[in-house]
Amino acid sequence: MNTSASRSTVTTSQRKNPSMCQHQPSCPTSESADRDAARRVAHHPEQGWSLLCNGVLLFEDTGELLPDGQVIAPHRLCLATAAA
Ligand SMILES: [Zn+2]
Repeated sequence: MNTSASRSTVTTSQRKNPSMCQHQPSCPTSESADRDAARRVAHHPEQGWSLLCNGVLLFEDTGELLPDGQVIAPHRLCLATAAA
């Protein structure tokens, strides 16, 4: 594994996951910390979720479901504390 090459996409085309990103610059992977910066390929506000290009399901409450089944808890700010 050569992770140093992933910083620049200028070098030869990498094929990590051909089924993933079809555009440039490619989206952050689902393992990346900024995974929710990926493009939305499907948006369902009525159901409260979006599907990101990297396979992450992003929910309205900022919770996330990763392609490998891992669940990320919502990281919203303390909205409840403001309500009396
Ligand atoms: Zn993408």
